[in-house]
Amino acid sequence: MKDFCLQERGSSNSRIRTYQYIKDHNPSTRQEISKNLGLSYPTVANAVKVLVGNGLIVPSFNKQKTEGRSAVSYDFCSDTYCSIGLYLAQNKMTFVLADLRGEILDQKKVKAALNLRSDGYLKYVGEQLKAIVQKNNILPSNLLGVGIALPGLISRDGEYVQYGHTSDFTGVTKTEISKYIPYKTALLHDSDAGAFAELNKWPDMRDAFYISLSSSVGGALMLDRKIVHGQDNWCGEIGHMKLITDRNAGECYCGHRGCFDTVCRCGVLDVLTDGNIEEFFEILHAGDRAALGLWNTYTDHLAMGVHNIHMLLDIPVILGGYVGELMKEDLPELRKKINSLEPFNSNADDFVFCSRSGADQVAEGAALIQIRIFENEI
Ligand SMILES: [Zn+2]
Repeated sequence: MKDFCLQERGSSNSRIRTYQYIKDHNPSTRQEISKNLGLSYPTVANAVKVLVGNGLIVPSFNKQKTEGRSAVSYDFCSDTYCSIGLYLAQNKMTFVLADLRGEILDQKKVKAALNLRSDGYLKYVGEQLKAIVQKNNILPSNLLGVGIALPGLISRDGEYVQYGHTSDFTGVTKTEISKYIPYKTALLHDSDAGAFAELNKWPDMRDAFYISLSSSVGGALMLDRKIVHGQDNWCGEIGHMKLITDRNAGECYCGHRGCFDTVCRCGVLDVLTDGNIEEFFEILHAGDRAALGLWNTYTDHLAMGVHNIHMLLDIPVILGGYVGELMKEDLPELRKKINSLEPFNSNADDFVFCSRSGADQVAEGAALIQIRIFENEI
């Protein structure tokens, strides 16, 4: 299911292509769509008629001149439907409400320890969702559904948690998690959700590797704008790539030592600021010696990890998660360290970037999933 959800553009369905064109080139005329998509005018006119009937586009009052004649243009209606993204992280839950463009209309964060086996926890999730729906006056018919991102691998069919590594929730099903959610739901691995939010912010990027630097380290490989999952669904799990071979290296929750996760999770940094990663960057930029020391070691390891990924894939690397979002002004220093490891004349300025989505990128990506499912079924 996930592969299907993550597809976008390039559809052979003329209605979906027309919809996507108007969304990307708002407003558009039927003549323009026909010419640029290579579809016959009657085909486009029929697609436009259906999209108008569904409330997804409306005729614009401003007629455009097209090849000497005036033509009606059509506006995209991004607020016809909305979607909710939910990130159930270790110690908090983040909710975002998004329109059809993925623009965030509302968001909320609540502290709560992740426990998918607790009925009380699941009930609380349902109550918080209901509060958002009521606050924003959303009719059930306008809500496409809820995307739920979790710090665990999701089965290929999207129906259960294949591996809930950071807490004990392996095997928990979508039906169980959705017990108090009276809407359509979809489960996602948090790394995939973050990568998906990034895809939305880089419309011209075909291939990239997304690294999530949050309370754990994860990743996602995106090829031709689709997330690759691999033979056993482990593709992109760089958190357990070995960066240190010293037998005294820190122990990972996977049972091994020296994993990427042990040296680049944000807890390595915010140990100085009582778990507050924003405050860590504040004292780092103010010149705190202890913070500078931790950051120097952290970026040594991060540079090694990014370099290895670049050598393997030769595609852009996007740094996301809490750290990736906050380290924008520190990126030049990291790029220098990566360049010192590169054997050829490649320049990290050309292939290492910080996330373009905000701090709620995982919840944003979760909301986008329901929108993509809808758009593939128009
Ligand atoms: Zn590990």
